[in-house]
Amino acid sequence: MEAERDDAEEEESDVEEDEEDEKVEYPYEFKEEKRKKAKAYSKQKLYIGLIQGTLIPLIILVVLQFTFLSSALEKFSLSLIGNVGVTNIWLGAVLFVVFFLLITTIVGLPISFYSGYILEHRYDLSNQDVPGWAKDQLKSLALSLLLATPLIVGVFYLGDTFPDWWWLYAGIIYFAILGILSNISHLIFLPLFYDLEELKDHELGQRLLEMAHENGVPEVKKVMKVKAGEKTEKANAAFAGMGKTKRIYLYDTLLDKFHDKEVEGVVAHEMGHYVNKDVLRFIFIEAVTIFPVLYIAGWIFRHWASFGHISNLPLFLLILYGLYSVIDPVTLWYSRERERKADKFALDVVRKKRPMISAFKRLSDIDLAELDPPRIVEVLFYSHPSPKNRLEMVKRKGEEE
Ligand SMILES: [Zn+2]
Repeated sequence: MEAERDDAEEEESDVEEDEEDEKVEYPYEFKEEKRKKAKAYSKQKLYIGLIQGTLIPLIILVVLQFTFLSSALEKFSLSLIGNVGVTNIWLGAVLFVVFFLLITTIVGLPISFYSGYILEHRYDLSNQDVPGWAKDQLKSLALSLLLATPLIVGVFYLGDTFPDWWWLYAGIIYFAILGILSNISHLIFLPLFYDLEELKDHELGQRLLEMAHENGVPEVKKVMKVKAGEKTEKANAAFAGMGKTKRIYLYDTLLDKFHDKEVEGVVAHEMGHYVNKDVLRFIFIEAVTIFPVLYIAGWIFRHWASFGHISNLPLFLLILYGLYSVIDPVTLWYSRERERKADKFALDVVRKKRPMISAFKRLSDIDLAELDPPRIVEVLFYSHPSPKNRLEMVKRKGEEE
């Protein structure tokens, strides 16, 4: 089996390289000017990420909770539904959460625009115009209103109605939603943000399917092209779904800018996640952490507040934030371990180190990724090992061409 594949690969590779030589440089080498830009870009992204993801949310939550604002908003929501003759406090809570999500989005808008639009354009990473960007923001907001509102109100309702066992019920519901969403989200959310096209009678597409079938994923039948290039320069790929809905997704940016051999390496990595059941592993981790997290958060919360008032939501979120800042570095460490395993799987599939090294280098230059971030940054924020560590592993374990 392996000898056969080797021969086939060598025969193909001559033809392929002749054809592709003019299209893309292969094997790819780092570009000095990209490396300089990557250093500046990733530093700015890190600081803005901290402001956007930590500082601003914490300020909003503290201000809402510890001034009169949150309880005023609750009174306002109740009076609004009272005007139409409704007195149910949980319907008032729904309205409160909608206002709350709108307020946090609006307050965070300038920094989102800076991070997602201005900075991306400054580094030539985005191809979106302002209306296109705004449309995506509105879709995300609609999704969070639709998904988060029932979840948040549900937690407070359960907390108020079942004081002893609410965390168990809420955890089970959360777990069920997570399980369903992780299987079908690509069918709902991807088409919402991108145009998709099935790659039929596509030489590379067929080869990727064969590669999947030979390496433990016989059920995948479709390769989909994600038309991301109209929005971003960045490249990506994924395996998603289960059973009949199982698909390989490839950004058009990956297809256009990468050598076929590199694409095979990238897809083999994604295949590694699937074969190693990484999505299931993370759902399991979420499941085992959500129960104690809810229990402890509820225990702390009840010292100061009650679930009977939705205006206490900022406090509950602050407590959750505190607990997750302890858990997140552990989850990230585990994620980096799984990424390493997926890289090893990819090496076992493509065997040669050259396509993998070339793909990592090109990906780092296109995405303007920092090769060797400070260790503390990697530990606290990186879901993948740094590109330098990934390159070193491949150089150590891969076969020479
Ligand atoms: Zn990965």
